[in-house]
Amino acid sequence: MRRFFCALSVSALTVLALSGAMTGLLGVSTPLLAAEAVKTNKPAAPASETRFAAFVQRLWPLAKARGVSRATFDLAFLGVTPDPTVAALTKKQAEFVKPIWEYLASATSAARLERGAQMARTYQPVLADLEQRYGVEPSVILGVWGMETNFGGFTGGKDVIRSLATLAAMGYRGTYFRDELLGALTILEGRHVARADFKGSWAGAMGQTQFMPSSFRKFAIDFDGDGHKDIWTSVPDALASTANYLNENGWQKGLPWGFEVVLPKGFDYRQREKSFADWAQTGVRRADGRALPSNGEASLFFPAGADGPVFLVTANFSVIKRYNASDAYALGVANLGDRLFGGAPIQAAWPVEDPLLGLAQRVELQRTLTRLGYDVGEPNGQIGSRTRAAIRDFQERAGMRPDGYPNRRVLEALKAN
Ligand code: CA
Repeated sequence: MRRFFCALSVSALTVLALSGAMTGLLGVSTPLLAAEAVKTNKPAAPASETRFAAFVQRLWPLAKARGVSRATFDLAFLGVTPDPTVAALTKKQAEFVKPIWEYLASATSAARLERGAQMARTYQPVLADLEQRYGVEPSVILGVWGMETNFGGFTGGKDVIRSLATLAAMGYRGTYFRDELLGALTILEGRHVARADFKGSWAGAMGQTQFMPSSFRKFAIDFDGDGHKDIWTSVPDALASTANYLNENGWQKGLPWGFEVVLPKGFDYRQREKSFADWAQTGVRRADGRALPSNGEASLFFPAGADGPVFLVTANFSVIKRYNASDAYALGVANLGDRLFGGAPIQAAWPVEDPLLGLAQRVELQRTLTRLGYDVGEPNGQIGSRTRAAIRDFQERAGMRPDGYPNRRVLEALKAN
């Protein structure tokens, strides 16, 4: 989940919806980004210790109703106080978002590729077994694992109960974190992890592939058969849980996530979605020179506008986004996975000279779209699908290439209306 939460994030699975909300333009909430994007404003006040104690007391009947024993509950909260650093992290908002090209460069750094290749060799039998059982290819499983925690290199060192209780006691995001906290208590009750080892990101994303407790409950797997769903220290359990998550969210075996492509001269940018065969018919080619598949549907995707690399993406790309809703995250998973199995780096140049909009400009862009009659929701500087669709529509009407990309050129054109 995206991170806003990640290592600071909540990825898996969940916070998707939340994540985009926190980091703006790209909606990236991955650990890599969150750490960068989150520059703090004023720290929020955590609940006072008295309020916190009252919160814990009120929680007990709810926990009991979920089958948590008093012994587990008491052990869970023994010595636990609100965490002011967690409270402060909820107040951070991205002024500038890290450009996707920088994000992807760290996603596929030489060090990460080397570590990933080693993991691919070490866990080849497990990955082959998972492909057989869940219909999810090793590349995407490794891509997720690499993006979430650098293949287990950093899984977050915060106490899960303390983090979730701090957020829940503050009433942050309604009852979301209270429910995650109750889920966390049931994980302890199930003896999947020792109390002292119950660690995760500041927002409660846990283990090698950063599951929130609710995702753990739905998708975690005891793949090595020792009786514990141990996504913290058992790589087979963690990777099986990820494969299960992707499979349950609709992963289609054998369907590529997509490809970088090159568009023909005079391309009509109003085209969005077609079969691969029809794209090939219109002159769209894979950037690596290989043939497009003969089956499957794909949509055009411009992560940095029409001046940057262009991709055709399939329904499996959307499944990756169920893990974390950010485009940058999904492309990171996809490209890292490809690279680990001999795929090419992204070939087209990124528009590095085209400065990203700051928060105030993103808000201005949304206010202007609203003034022109578009429904883009609350103008909060977070560029989501509605804002992109509105930009595309405006660009089409204004005779610009409709790529939906929020840059200065489109902002100036909007303001001139
Ligand atoms: Ca296990």
